[in-house]
Formats: sequence, C-alpha cells, structure tokens
Amino acid sequence: MILYVKGMDKIAVLAGGTGSVKLARALYRLKSNSDMQNMHLSIVCNVGDNVWMHGLYICPDIDTIVYGLAGLLDRERGWGVSNDTFNCLAQLAKLEGEQWFMLGDKDLAMHIIRSMMLKEGKRLCKITGYLCSRLGIDARVIPASDDHLETRIVTDRGDMHLQEFWVKHKGMLDVHGIAYKGIEHARACSDALNAIEEADKIIVAPANPVSSILPILAIDGLRDAVRRRRDVCIAVSPIIGSRPVSGPAAKYMKALGYDVSPVSIADMYRDFASSLVIDESDRVLMDEIKAKGIDVYTTDILMDDEEDEVRLARYLLEL
Ligand code: GDP
Repeated sequence: MILYVKGMDKIAVLAGGTGSVKLARALYRLKSNSDMQNMHLSIVCNVGDNVWMHGLYICPDIDTIVYGLAGLLDRERGWGVSNDTFNCLAQLAKLEGEQWFMLGDKDLAMHIIRSMMLKEGKRLCKITGYLCSRLGIDARVIPASDDHLETRIVTDRGDMHLQEFWVKHKGMLDVHGIAYKGIEHARACSDALNAIEEADKIIVAPANPVSSILPILAIDGLRDAVRRRRDVCIAVSPIIGSRPVSGPAAKYMKALGYDVSPVSIADMYRDFASSLVIDESDRVLMDEIKAKGIDVYTTDILMDDEEDEVRLARYLLEL
C-alpha cells in the first residue's frame, strides 16, 4: 500500500466544526508519522458561526479545530474542552437568568484571551495563530476572514444567529432561508488565500455545506482562489444516503431547494472541487455525480472512531 505521495507536502483543509475536526485531527496525527513529517497542514475555518456573548468573542468552529488538534476536545460532545466544569455558567444563570449556550470554565479562558486581544486591536488571524502556538499546535489554523460575518437562519420567528436556531431552539423551527450577514464587507484573510494558492492538495472536510463551507467561499476572493486550484481540490460528502451524519444540514439544504443527497453536494461543490468522495453505500449515485462533471470516489466516509478517522485521512492523502 502506498503510504504517502511524495511532494504532497502542503495540505489545505476547508473546515467547519464537528465533522471537520474528525478529519483534521487524523491528518494532524498522520503528520507525526516518519514518512509524513514534511506535511504542512493549514486548516481554513468557517467564521460564520462566530458570536459575541457576555462581552466575549466565541468562534465555535475555530475552537473545535484548535481543541481537536491540541488533544483537548471533548470527543463525546464534539465541542468544548474535555473534563470541563460549568461553574461560571451556573453563576451567570443566577445573575442573568437562563443560559442556552454552554461555555465551560476551561473553555472560557480561550474566549477571554481572544476577546482581550481583539479589544487591543489584534486581528483574529494573528490571535488564532498565537493561541495555537501556546497550545503547541504544529499546524496553521486560519480564520477564513478577520471580519465578523454571521450565518443567519430565516425562520417563522424571524431571522436569528445559527447558534440561536440550533442550540437555543434545538433546530426545531421551520427554515425558510439562510443569509450571510456582513458578507459584503468581509475580506478574506491573506493567510487563507496563501494556503489555498500554495497547497498541493485542498481537502473540503465533511462539514455542513450551507453553514460551514459556503460561508467560507462566499467571502470575497475565496471561491475564486479555490476555483483556480480546482484540479487539486477534493471534497468529502457530509451526506450519506439521504441524511447528514449529524447536525442541521438537511434543513438548510432543503431551505435552499436542494434534495438531501450526495448528488446535491456535487451540485454545490462542482465548480471548485474536481473530486467528490462519497460513501461506499452510495455507489449507485456515481454515474449521476460523474455526469455533473466531477470525479467521484467511494470509500467508507463515516468516522465513528479514531481508526475510521485515520483511515479516511490516509485515503484522501493517497487519492
Ligand atoms: P459544522 O460541524 O460546523 O460543519 O456543522 P454541523 O454540526 O451542522 O455539521 C457537521 C457536518 O459534518 C454534518 O453535515 C455531518 O453530516 C458531517 N459529518 C459529521 N460526522 C461525519 C462523518 O463521520 N463523516 C462524514 N462524511 N460527515 C460527517
């Protein structure tokens, strides 16, 4: 078996949160193999779910990736720091009333430092790099933009931040549309553009297409940058059969008029990705996907444990 293709040293990953971190931490783990030590890993993260809360700037997707690479992530929940406590949140509830967004005591340290540095005028990109270096992470975690933009979910009760929709309302409201508020003013982070330009391979991680991948690409210049590298861009479907593995992707895709299927992922990604990796169980869709002008590969893309994660990461590196 070929273990690693020489010359494939620079890997850029476009990432959301819970699905993406499984793949990102496996790639990072492979980097410690003797034959892969030259690998430079850059993870370009969605910023559309960033939110100000209690005067603190919280970046859920960035934090999930940072904690995942640092080995601090609570694997069970898929977010936050493992073995965290929630004393501060309990006290906030006493002082402020019910809290719907979970923030652990250890997790808060990240938000406090980030917010403090933002208030000192530092850019999110630099702050993220600093936090990674403090945690000993030998990879670049790059916000897609330093600017604030928000994925808003349009529901019967008006439009709301996606965290409010998903966490506070438990994703129960009907969704009529999605908007990326602030997108017209958001500028791509130059490190993100450079990582894409220089990459030997770009991997679009399994992530919510509507609330993680498209808001990255909606930032001025980013979609064009990935399009220019289409020949080295591979995407992994977050949909297996007619369902996402987790999260609200089905509701969001339907709201945009897409069927919930890997074929729709091909429709959404074919202009910037030359290959789509779908699950073995979706093999029957290969011809339909190929007809859309995108190469298609099948393997087991469900990552239930560390072994699955590393197997898929290896497969993508070798593809
Ligand atoms: P995100 O994590 O910020 O992108 O937001 P969500 O929690 O909504 O989405 C996670 C996405 O990753 C969903 O669309 C899932 O279907 C996908 N996902 C999660 N775990 C896996 C997995 O093991 N394999 C694949 N292929 N997709 C996954």
